[in-house]
Amino acid sequence: MLVVMSHDATAAQVARVVEVIEEMGYQARPMPGAQRTSVGLVGNDGRVDGSQLEALDGVAEVIHVSKPYKQVSREWQQENTLVTIAPGVVFGGAAIPIIAGPCSVESEHQIVLAAQQVAAAGASALRGGAYKPRSSPYSFQGMGKKGLALLALARRETGLPIVTEALDEEGAHDVAEVADCIQIGARNMQNYALLKTIGKLGKPVLLKRGMAATIIDLLLSAEYLLAEGNTQVILCERGIRSFDPSTRNLFDLTAIPLVQKLSHLPIVADPSHGTGLRDKVLPMGRAAIAAGADGLIVEVHPNPDRAMSDGGQSLFPEQFEKLVLAARTIAVAIDRSITPAPRTTAGARG
Ligand code: PEP
Ligand code: MN
Repeated sequence: MLVVMSHDATAAQVARVVEVIEEMGYQARPMPGAQRTSVGLVGNDGRVDGSQLEALDGVAEVIHVSKPYKQVSREWQQENTLVTIAPGVVFGGAAIPIIAGPCSVESEHQIVLAAQQVAAAGASALRGGAYKPRSSPYSFQGMGKKGLALLALARRETGLPIVTEALDEEGAHDVAEVADCIQIGARNMQNYALLKTIGKLGKPVLLKRGMAATIIDLLLSAEYLLAEGNTQVILCERGIRSFDPSTRNLFDLTAIPLVQKLSHLPIVADPSHGTGLRDKVLPMGRAAIAAGADGLIVEVHPNPDRAMSDGGQSLFPEQFEKLVLAARTIAVAIDRSITPAPRTTAGARG
């Protein structure tokens, strides 16, 4: 439920609304807006009688939020949430950031070179996994803490903020020390204990859609993060399982306008896992921008043929450069732009 205050409501009237909500046994989330303040009521699992609140001074109206993913819904907040992972790298506005990098951090040389290459091509964030969720226990599992240290080094060298995945609750704290944005992978989208832990860490989160998750499932998982007080959440469409083995996943681009209608959170697209095929990443990356994605996340490797994970879907740096150029042209056609690489990039070393 959302208690919308009148334009001229006083601070004392807002405080009284908060007090009454707490007396009713729920939590209150005051949300000052440009025009007026709203106070969200959370903690209920069903309709709440709002008559007591409606009668308070300064209350303009009480809106019942019909969606189960309340705080994530557009009913709760009409304006887009802007998620800032570093100065100038903002998701959810007119400018569209591109996150790029290898699937896994493999060595100092590999990650620093990849960071330099994607920065030069126009990426505004570096993505690389230090902890990898692999379908087989015998596949490369990532470099762990050493990989995190190498990501921090790559950030120092290029100025690119870091997006990297946390796989479990113990590792999440280590990841939070280095990451500018914590990725929660498709396999963990419904790991509710992990969502609660990461929701408390106070860092922006990139939440990927599970491979068999509906859009409502995705939004409800995001609700776990918002319920912990973290509104800095970016959703990610990365393809879902289908009956057709022609592509690794079925890249569901309709999810982008659908989510944007239902939620105020930004949604980015991952054409690398969405297709699993290097030569399909460019056309589907272009299509994602055209569909209105608030960002792209793309796997790029200095030498994809030698990659330790996901080489077959990783772009060569020259292909990534082409994608960024095309994305810029398409963005202009829909009154948007591609976020430039952070200004620190060029001279980060000295
Ligand atoms: C990844 O980003 O490399 C990854 C494992 O992605 P997903 O969780 O979407 O499978
Ligand atoms: Mn990958």
